[in-house]
Formats: sequence, structure tokens, C-alpha cells
Amino acid sequence: TSNLKESYVFDNFVEGKSNQLARAAASQVADNPGTAFNPLFLYGSTGLGKTHLMHAVGNEIRQRNPDAKVVYMHSERFVQDMVKAIQTNSIEEWKRHYRSVDALLIDDIQFFAGKERSQEEFFHTFNALLESNHQIILTSDRYPKEIDGVEERLKSRFGWGLTIIIEPPELETRVAILMKKAHESNFDLPHEVAFFIAKRLRSNVRDLEGALNRVIANANFTGKAVTIDFTKEALRDMLALQEKLVTIDNIQKTVAEYYKIKVADMSSKSRSRSVARPRQIAMALSKELTNHSLPEIGAAFGGRDHTTVLHACRKVTELRETTHDIKEDFSNLVRTLSS
Ligand code: ADP
Ligand code: MG
Repeated sequence: TSNLKESYVFDNFVEGKSNQLARAAASQVADNPGTAFNPLFLYGSTGLGKTHLMHAVGNEIRQRNPDAKVVYMHSERFVQDMVKAIQTNSIEEWKRHYRSVDALLIDDIQFFAGKERSQEEFFHTFNALLESNHQIILTSDRYPKEIDGVEERLKSRFGWGLTIIIEPPELETRVAILMKKAHESNFDLPHEVAFFIAKRLRSNVRDLEGALNRVIANANFTGKAVTIDFTKEALRDMLALQEKLVTIDNIQKTVAEYYKIKVADMSSKSRSRSVARPRQIAMALSKELTNHSLPEIGAAFGGRDHTTVLHACRKVTELRETTHDIKEDFSNLVRTLSS
């Protein structure tokens, strides 16, 4: 059996800036399995659509060629199966099975950490598949080189094809996802309510789905009209948690710690690059992760003008596109702050 989840397809995957590279790469792999990018490695924090995209590729390959052998497997399950095969003396058969598939999809590869024997077997399977141009797709919650407890030779091989990050979706994409999912459930979701939810739940798509399901259930149960007030009430606990989580204070502390500078530098007048850049990043994070206005953010950063904050946000957006380190720093910080 392939273990593919039929509902995870390209058609119902909403595209936005945060996932468009990953989606495009996945779609190319589905067009040319084994030759476009091999392996395809998707990473990013939880609930952002890695598993969905991976299945979408598998489903598409099977759609075009129903005889294609596509195997999806969570890495924990892969390890369990292998252990079982060793215990029952069927490891050779197990190896043959995996080496004969056209596409092997292993999810959440970070769970290989510390499992040396599994890594060893996987390394050989991996090489065999690559040599015969069979497609491999892997996902992980972090950049391959950052997965502790996985052999270097394996990590380096993960990077042979194409490695792409999926980032948390921006506001417009979050709204589009909510509208699409509501539509799929035949639920008439007012746009301002979608906007209200999307504005508050920022870190992952799974939470958005959870919130939407809650609103739908409450609406069906009470028969009330779906207004913003209704939604606030229905999602009270989820929203309270979110508000508590990220404050400007918290952002300043986290960023200062990350860059090993003083929290006081967040409000200081210093323009030296080593503190000015982190300060700009903290401002941009405050804009992205809290509901504070530009003037409020400026005030919290030593009484700066709102145009300074706006400039910082633009600068950071630009740097995230042009500078790999800043891009990594930013997503690490978002991850730390929203977990
Ligand atoms: P991950 O594997 O990255 O943790 P999943 O693929 O399990 O995330 O996605 C979590 C949920 O969110 C799934 O139900 C998935 O269908 C949905 N989802 C994620 N991204 C999107 C998207 N861009 N469009 C539509 N649904 C999405
Ligand atoms: Mg997943």
C-alpha cells in the first residue's frame, strides 16, 4: 500500500509567497519524478503544509501513472518497520521492497536522530534509489544541516537535490486559506471574520483549520449569525493564548538574547550595525507578530517615530529576500516566539 492521503492534492493547496517556491518545486517533481530535483527536501515548522505537499506529489505521480509505486511513510514508522524486519529476519526483503519503489516519501526525518542502524539502512536505500533515478522526497522541521543526531554523510546527501523552506503564511494567504476551507465545507464565512481570525492566528495552518472548524461547529449548533463578536466568543481560549504569547517586550528580550546584545540597546540611540540591525528585526517582528500599530511600536523602541518602524519593516523584508543569514535568523526567531 502506498499510504497516500487522497485529500492532499495540489488543487486544494493555497499558494502564497511563503510556500510558492516549495509548491513550484513539488509540482516540477510531480511532472518529472526522479529527474527534476532529487531528493526534494522540504523543511519548516509544524502545520505549514509539508505533509500536504508531499502527498500532493505522490497523488499526482499516481494520477499520471497508476502503476507507479509510491510509498509514503512517517520516519518513525519507517524505523519501526525496519526494527521489525530485523527481528523477523526479513531485512533483505524489506530492503528489496524499499529499493524497488518509484518514489519514496519520508516525512519528519528529524525523528531519525540517534537511530544509527536506521540511518545506515536508509543511507543505502537512499543511494540505491538515487542511482536508479527514483524520486525521494523528505521533510523535516528544520534545515537538514541543523538536525542533530543524524550522520553528516546523510545530511550532506539530503542537500544534493533541492532544499526549500516553507514559511508561515502571510496575512493574505491565511485569509485565502480560511475562505477556501470554508467554501469546501459549504460554509458561508464572512470575509471580515476570516480576516479577524487570520490577523490573530499567525503561526500555522493547522491552527487556522482548528479555529475555522470551531466557528463552523458553534454556528451550526447555536444557529447564530457569524459575526466578529460571535467568533471572538467561540475562539476565546485560542485567542487569549495567542495574545499572551507574543508581546513587544518578549520580542525585544528574545531578539537581544539571540544576537547577544543588551535589551537596553533596543531603545538606545546607538546606530552601530551590531545593534541597529537586531533592533530593526525586532521592530519588524513586532509588526508581524503583535497587533500594535507603528506608532506604538516606535514608542516601545525608545520613542522612535512611526516612519522609522516602517523603514525597519521594509528593510527587513528586503534583507530576508537577499541575505540568507537574515532569512534564517528571522524564521528562527518567529519559530522561537510562536512556539
Ligand atoms: P506540516 O506537515 O508542515 O506540519 P501539514 O501538511 O500537516 O503541515 O498541514 C497542516 C494542515 O494544514 C493540513 O490539514 C493541510 O491540509 C493544511 N494546509 C497547510 N498548508 C496549506 C495550504 N497552503 N493550503 C491549504 N491547506 C493547507
Ligand atoms: Mg507533517
